[in-house]
Amino acid sequence: MSEGHYDLIVAGGGPTGSTLASFTAMAGYRVLLLEREEFPRHQIGESLLPATIHGICRMLGVLDEVERRGFPKKNGGTFRWGANPEPWTFRFSRQPNDPFGYAYQVERAVFDQILLDRARELGVDVRERHDVRSVIMENGRAVGVAFADSEGRQHQARARFVADTSGHRSHVSKLVGERIYSEFFRNVALYGYFENGKRLPAPNQGNILSAAFRDGWFWYIPLSDSLTSVGAVVSREAAEEIRKGEDKALQGFIGRCPIIQDYLAGARRITEGPYGPLRIRKDYSYCTTRFWAPGMVLAGDAACFIDPVFSSGVHLGTYSALLAARSILTLLGGTAGISEEACFTEYEDRYRREFGRFYQFLLAFYDVQQDEESYFWQARKILHTSERSNAAFVRLVAGLSAEDEPLFTGPDRFFEARRDFGSWFAANVLPPEAGVTGVTGVSTSSEPASPEEFDPKQFMAGFSKEIASLQLQAIRRGNYSLPERPIRAGGLIPSADGLRWQRV
Ligand code: FAD
Repeated sequence: MSEGHYDLIVAGGGPTGSTLASFTAMAGYRVLLLEREEFPRHQIGESLLPATIHGICRMLGVLDEVERRGFPKKNGGTFRWGANPEPWTFRFSRQPNDPFGYAYQVERAVFDQILLDRARELGVDVRERHDVRSVIMENGRAVGVAFADSEGRQHQARARFVADTSGHRSHVSKLVGERIYSEFFRNVALYGYFENGKRLPAPNQGNILSAAFRDGWFWYIPLSDSLTSVGAVVSREAAEEIRKGEDKALQGFIGRCPIIQDYLAGARRITEGPYGPLRIRKDYSYCTTRFWAPGMVLAGDAACFIDPVFSSGVHLGTYSALLAARSILTLLGGTAGISEEACFTEYEDRYRREFGRFYQFLLAFYDVQQDEESYFWQARKILHTSERSNAAFVRLVAGLSAEDEPLFTGPDRFFEARRDFGSWFAANVLPPEAGVTGVTGVSTSSEPASPEEFDPKQFMAGFSKEIASLQLQAIRRGNYSLPERPIRAGGLIPSADGLRWQRV
């Protein structure tokens, strides 16, 4: 059956798809969003960053609704990481009472439903239990999708643009580019839910707790006073243990991580309902060689994902949705005289740069952990990493990642410039009050990174700038006057309302 003609068809109603659909519908365009599942549905990715709450949620008009749900407030992250046996905490805010210095830990079934409902409210034609089967291409351009409805009936719909936001399982992203996997982050996550786990002492009770142990690390995320999401991220080798039984493997990992064992001492694993099954995720660290093709854009996990350690997934997804919306709205408006190539190149450059920042930040973070005994941690030291040999992946995330940084000729130079990044990071970024400045066992003897190639200080500044600018944009909606400059010669900058591109 052939359906109507839309301005935009969005495949997938997770945070990325709902956000992109909403921004496009807000500007008065016709949007069809097809979601395979019926909401509320389970999803991992529960620990959010402030940019999502104070930036994207505010811009979408759902901040009040999110605040009303009473999700645990996350002021930062608490880590048992590095050689220091004491946990240390970083806060999003350096000043007390910063109104934007927090995020939330969310049950994704609830959070994603809020975003999808908002899209519906804004006029998006949202259809759940509708499965996108393929993208219709004509003369090398995406012009619509073929999909099956909840009864299995086949349909087609056409649009000026198609967005693939169908997440890590996307089967249409390959039309745009090849998915390249990271060698460095080739980990496996095994996770489940517990009742009545302990909480960190106030004021950190809402923080994510990340704890390294011999085989990898744990996340421990408070989702309510009594519900906790607990996941072990381990190497593929340690994951062999999972084959022999998930429950036993999780118990084994918990038994080898004293702080998590202590926090779960009086807790019960939930075994029924949506939080009942133990779940596994693997092959989740990848990047696609291109993020757009004529008429089609990949956003969120459909384009790339790296690692859960810094809770970046929903931020990257919704931020990419905003960037993609800017491109699509500029083109639908048609008045700016900016080509599709220019709009989507801007999209891809900015999304890749943000992704690259998290990638490098994570390399530093993994480099901090010192456990000479542990295969997991030895294999993940930057200097020993097999990532060097994974030139295709490194090229995808290295070149455009840090502002003002010369392009690197290959992974060897890239990693060489980041030698000892972990110890620099431990000494300069981790909070001194936690005693991490004096991390013992972190080598400081090797050559420092050459500032001409890579300046870690500038890298950190760039990292927070993008997030700050996203929040300011949301707060000063319609009156956005930050001194934006293009990220490369001839590039574009956001318009005053943050929803289109313009020339400088
Ligand atoms: P998704 O949330 O996956 O949404 C995609 C949607 O598309 C789904 O609803 C799916 O049903 C639908 N879909 C799929 N195929 C089709 C189709 N053919 N037709 C129609 N619809 C379709 N991120 C964080 O921010 N914080 C965390 O703490 C965090 N922890 C993580 C832990 C692990 C182990 C992993 C692997 C990831 C974690 N993430 C985390 C990442 C986070 O899960 C994702 O980045 C985020 O969900 C991406 O959102 P999305 O909308 O792009 O994709």
